Order: sequence, then structure tokens, then C-alpha cells
Amino acid sequence: MSGHPSGPTGHTRVAAVIGEPVRHSLSPALHNAAFSHCGLDWVYVALPVGEGRGADAVDAMRVFGLDGLSVTMPHKQAVAAAVDELSPAARMLGAVNCVQRVGDRLVGHNTDGAGLVASLRHQLGFQPEGAEVVVLGAGGAAAAASAALVDDGARVTIVNRSRQRAETLASAIGDGATAGETHDVKRASLVVQATPLGMGSDDALPIDPGLLSSHQLLVDLIYHPLETPLIAQARSRGVRAVNGVGMLLFQAGLQFTLWTERPAPIDVMAEAVGFRL
Ligand code: NAP
Repeated sequence: MSGHPSGPTGHTRVAAVIGEPVRHSLSPALHNAAFSHCGLDWVYVALPVGEGRGADAVDAMRVFGLDGLSVTMPHKQAVAAAVDELSPAARMLGAVNCVQRVGDRLVGHNTDGAGLVASLRHQLGFQPEGAEVVVLGAGGAAAAASAALVDDGARVTIVNRSRQRAETLASAIGDGATAGETHDVKRASLVVQATPLGMGSDDALPIDPGLLSSHQLLVDLIYHPLETPLIAQARSRGVRAVNGVGMLLFQAGLQFTLWTERPAPIDVMAEAVGFRL
């Protein structure tokens, strides 16, 4: 089914991603495939917006009447300060990756953490309620993951190169989150790898894979490469391990649903960018 078989018209609704760089973004392919599949007369484009212009872009969203906005580096904080309202997750993280129009108001969301949890439920059958989780890293992705997992009832131990940053993040999240050390990996049912280690071919492993055992689950948030050395090591020890593709797709699916009020066709979105779940 196609939303606009003869191309956009005067009625076509527009969504966009802003960022710098943004031309490499997979989001236009993901969202346009979903719009088309659902028969929605929407189009999604990538708009390069330079550093320091995030708040201007939110004003432009009002002026142009854009119906959805995705936000990537380096604008997530500036957009959080410029919208009319924040979801609880966006407020906790101080970062917005999705703007939803509700009447005349613009509401900022952060779908990364909820997208990760949805992908883990779907791909691994993981139930966060009461689970022990170790998150490696304390940057933006680790913060989103930890906050969403705690929200859904997990106990999260944050392990980071700079311990102080792990402690700051744990206390910002509050009950359910603590800072820990690498050996805490041994008692986790799920390990979330949220550092960039594994993207470069010469990178060290983020943890000693000997700490992992076959009853555990691992998600490495990296999706380029699709199999990091840690995922390969984990799998060779019988650990069920997935990459960051699921998080990427499910966080985009949540954005699609916020804008269109429809369930997202995740498999269609995956196929559009050549991924398999
Ligand atoms: P970030 O904010 O820059 O945080 C990076 C974290 O990694 C920090 O905690 C940092 O520790 C740690 N780190 C960096 N280099 C390290 C090293 N050499 N040794 C040990 N720790 C190191 O980055 P981010 O935005 O959170 O992204 C992290 C990863 O998640 C990236 O690989 C990104 O591709 C992935 N990601 C995936 C998705 C998805 O949808 N799948 C979404 C977002 C991010 P310090 O605090 O000590 O510096």
C-alpha cells in the first residue's frame, strides 16, 4: 500500500530529522517505508542543522507546521530546553530525540530507553521486572538504558571507566540504580554494553568475556559492526547476545507511534534498511 502513489501533495504531512551530520541517517528510509506500508500521506526528510541552531529548528517546526521531529547529535539538549513540555524520560535525561505535536504544543520525548526495553522483550523474551542488570558505560545511551530498565522494575548496576560518572548517573536515577565494578557482571541476568568499544577494529574488549556465562543475556548497543568482538566472544560461551539494531528500530517505531498513533511496522522498517531482527 502506498500513502501518496503520485508523490507528495498539498496535504502531505512532513516529519524530519535534524542533526549534524545527518545525511548518513537511516531514519528517512525507516520512516518512509513505515508511512508507505501503513498508507499514510506523510513524508520524512533529513535536515542538516548546525551546532547551536537546535532551538531555532524547534521554532522552524512551529512555523512550518512539521508534524514530527527526530533529533540527533548535537541538538538533544538544546531541543529539550526549547519544547513546551517534556516526557518523564526526556526530563530525567535532559535530552530529547523526538518531538511530538499535541495541538499547538510541542512535547519532547526520549524513546531510546523504552526502545531498548521493547527490543529486549521482543528479541530475547527478557522481563525487566526484578532482573539484575549491569550497564557498561555512563554516557547518553547508558543513561537512557538504565533509567528505562529501572522504570520497568530492574535493578541496575552501572559500571564505567570513570567511577564518578557512574555514581552521578546512579544517584540521578535514584532507587534501583547503583554504581559498581566489572566483577558485578557475574551476577547479572542481562549485560548492556553501552560504550563505543567494539566500533574500532583495534578496540579493547569492554570487559573480560570470562566473566560471562551461558545463562546470561547480552545486548551490545553498537550496530556497526553487526557483530562486535564482545558479541562473538559471548556467543562462543553460549550467551544469547544481540546487537544495537533492535534498539535502533524499536526507538524509531515508538517515534512513529507518537506521531501517527499507529503501531509501527517494525519488520517493514528493518527490511527498508537491510536489517534482520
Ligand atoms: P557517550 O555519551 O560518549 O558515552 C560513552 C561512554 O563510553 C562513557 O561512559 C565513556 O566512559 C565510555 N567509554 C568511551 N570510550 C571508552 C574507553 N576507551 N574505555 C572505556 N570506556 C569508554 O556515548 P553514547 O551516546 O552513550 O553512545 C555509546 C554507544 O552506544 C555508541 O557505541 C553508540 O553507537 C551506541 N548507541 C546505540 C544506539 C542504538 O540505537 N543502538 C543509540 C545510542 C547509542 P567515560 O565516562 O569514562 O568517558
